Amino acid sequence: MQSTLTLKMTMFYGALFVAVSILSLYGTRKAIESYAESVIRREMAVGSALFDRIAILQFHQLGQAGNVLAGDFGFREAVGTGDVPTIESALHSLRGRFQLDRAIFVGVDGTLAGDLSQISVRERTQLYDALDAGQQQGIVRWAGESHMVAAARIQAPALMGWVVFARNMGPRDLQALAKLTSIDLAPQLVPRADKSGVGIKTREVEQDGKRILIQSRAVPTLIKSDRELLVLKYSLTDALASYSPILWALFGFGGLGGITAIVGAWVASRNLTKPIVALERAARKVSAGEHAEVNVETRDEIGRLARSFNRMVNAVETRERQIAHMAFHDSLTGLANRVLLREQIALALQRPGGSGFALFCLDLDNFKGVNDTLGHPTGDALLCEVATRLTQTCPNGFIARLGGDEFAIIVQDGCTSADQTGRSLVKALGRPFAVNGHRIVTGTSVGISLAPQDGRDATSLLKNADLALYRAKHDGKASHRFFESTMDAEAQARRAMEVDLHDALNKGELELHFQPLFGLSQNRVTAFEALLRWNHPVRGMVSPADFIPLAEETGLIIPIGEWVLHEACRIAGTWASDIRIAVNISPVQFRNSMLNSIVLQALARSGLEPQRLELEITESLFIDNVEATLASLHSLRALGVRVALDDFGTGYSSLSYLRSFPFDKLKIDRSFIVDLLAHDGATAIIRAITSLADALGMETTAEGVESSEQLDILRAEGCGQIQGYLFSRPIPASEVDALLCKLDEKRVAA
Ligand code: C2E
Ligand code: MG
Ligand code: MG
Repeated sequence: MQSTLTLKMTMFYGALFVAVSILSLYGTRKAIESYAESVIRREMAVGSALFDRIAILQFHQLGQAGNVLAGDFGFREAVGTGDVPTIESALHSLRGRFQLDRAIFVGVDGTLAGDLSQISVRERTQLYDALDAGQQQGIVRWAGESHMVAAARIQAPALMGWVVFARNMGPRDLQALAKLTSIDLAPQLVPRADKSGVGIKTREVEQDGKRILIQSRAVPTLIKSDRELLVLKYSLTDALASYSPILWALFGFGGLGGITAIVGAWVASRNLTKPIVALERAARKVSAGEHAEVNVETRDEIGRLARSFNRMVNAVETRERQIAHMAFHDSLTGLANRVLLREQIALALQRPGGSGFALFCLDLDNFKGVNDTLGHPTGDALLCEVATRLTQTCPNGFIARLGGDEFAIIVQDGCTSADQTGRSLVKALGRPFAVNGHRIVTGTSVGISLAPQDGRDATSLLKNADLALYRAKHDGKASHRFFESTMDAEAQARRAMEVDLHDALNKGELELHFQPLFGLSQNRVTAFEALLRWNHPVRGMVSPADFIPLAEETGLIIPIGEWVLHEACRIAGTWASDIRIAVNISPVQFRNSMLNSIVLQALARSGLEPQRLELEITESLFIDNVEATLASLHSLRALGVRVALDDFGTGYSSLSYLRSFPFDKLKIDRSFIVDLLAHDGATAIIRAITSLADALGMETTAEGVESSEQLDILRAEGCGQIQGYLFSRPIPASEVDALLCKLDEKRVAA
């Protein structure tokens, strides 16, 4: 780039200078030419004038000399007497005295005496005629040579003749004239053939490759018919030749100036393009991802451009750093993100002779509840607090937030200290947090994988720590678990089951079984509980205890639950109108905003009266968000359906919410019923529950009644309904009628 721009500018300025030089050289030459021509013309005018003056002088002198002789008495007498020898002698002596070339006597009768050599008879006659016509002076050409001629009249008193004196006007004489002008005009007297104009004429001719300026003008002749020209010549080429040193000097200086201009333009454009080249180089570096700054100190536009460029580069780098930081860090907590964590794991694995490390995966227990009840800003603040606490607990660990309420930590230590760290983490996050004026208790579950034995790459280490975390959560939250190889197989089995479960609904592998609830006071079956069965083509009958948690985890419980509601209502619609149907509602289903409309649809489609439908929910719903749970329960109740609390006594029981929401029924968990025969205390618990339910206007159902002894105690303790193998195991819908008949018969028999 530098070369082209510099070259372009150099060529431009160089060419400009050369053009200007050529123009000025041409102009100078033209000016010199016209000056030289004007000088020559002036000198020619001077020469011409000089010739006139000399001619006048010569004619005057010749005339004077002639008068001297014509006035001489002796001479006149000799003329009068026709004494030719005397005339000739007098002429001869005067010729010597006045340095004449010829002295001639012309008689009135036409006789001539004196120097007449080489003058033809015609020329003599012409001379006489001219004199006779009164001519007195002028140029005459005799014997091929020009002569200045002046005549004096000889009168005594009558005209007797003329004394004619002549001086040669040959090249030498003209040369003498030329000496009087400043340049040699090579004057020449030339006879002229034509008789056209007599004015001064100047023309330029080419002779032997030279430009010659020629001026010609007529000079006065003695014989009228003669024409004589004074010709002045001067070579313009020679005249200009005298100026050629100047032109050469100009040319030389022009050349020198041209070289100087080219060098100067090159240096100037190089100086100009140097910063541009530096900018271009820097820009290329920056685009290649390197750091580059331009060092231009000037205060001109280029300097300003360079400073702007540097500012731009710095801004781009800052932004790049920010973007890179954003790409590798979590914007909320400032911790590393999953991408950076994976990189760190890969680095730690590559470290030569590395002693191995532990990878901790953490998941907050009940974070969703915090978000739902206290709002996202508080949830975010809690996550920041958690990040701080993790940093304090593992100051040497590499901590990352994987998203949501998931965190991961790399700690370089062995298995025993990993166990210690896991314990510390559970403990640290188990302590209550004070966030935005709220006291929040959230535990954490921790899964741990150890490198290199649990994985040789980031993906498997993270997956295994996640499996351990899953186990920790399932084994009861707020605990830590190490990865075990069986977890992987379990996870795979779970995954396979998940895939199968996905298809189960569409393939019609799900069906409902029904278990009767026997009303003790009514002494008849008052209801059936719908219990889901999965008739797997390979696994056989799969227990809901095995697949419901998976369906809840994957969200499949939503479509499955919807199907259960529709199916249960449809079948119950075929029964006698005094038999209810109880349907289990999973917490996941319960929290789904569509539940109400699904229940309504199921009722509408089956035509079942709402009060014949009993929804069973579990106490775990109250752990998360009591307010929201109560609101949802009331809205369900508003549909006219009944609500029962399933597995009562196993979970997070609180008298306050029993008071806040009047359940239609409490289902006493099977564990209490089993205990009935084992120790007496259990009877007291049953009694307490039934009297509490009575007080709150709720019915009671005892679950899992298998023996008549249990039945007797329950009856004695005021329990309203019995459900259990004692009466019937869950049966397919097709067997319901037969069962009802059989139970009726039993009753009749009893
Ligand atoms: P659950 O609602 O407490 O249902 C009662 C469970 O106790 C049933 O187990 C039933 O077969 C069993 N059972 C009844 N009488 C006896 C007895 O005398 N002895 C013993 N040992 N067990 C008895 P099942 O059918 O395996 O269901 C287990 C759990 O799966 C249910 O507990 C319920 O929580 C859940 N479940 C079943 N079907 C559905 C459903 O359609 N939706 C939802 N969300 N959960 C369901
Ligand atoms: Mg139930
Ligand atoms: Mg139950």
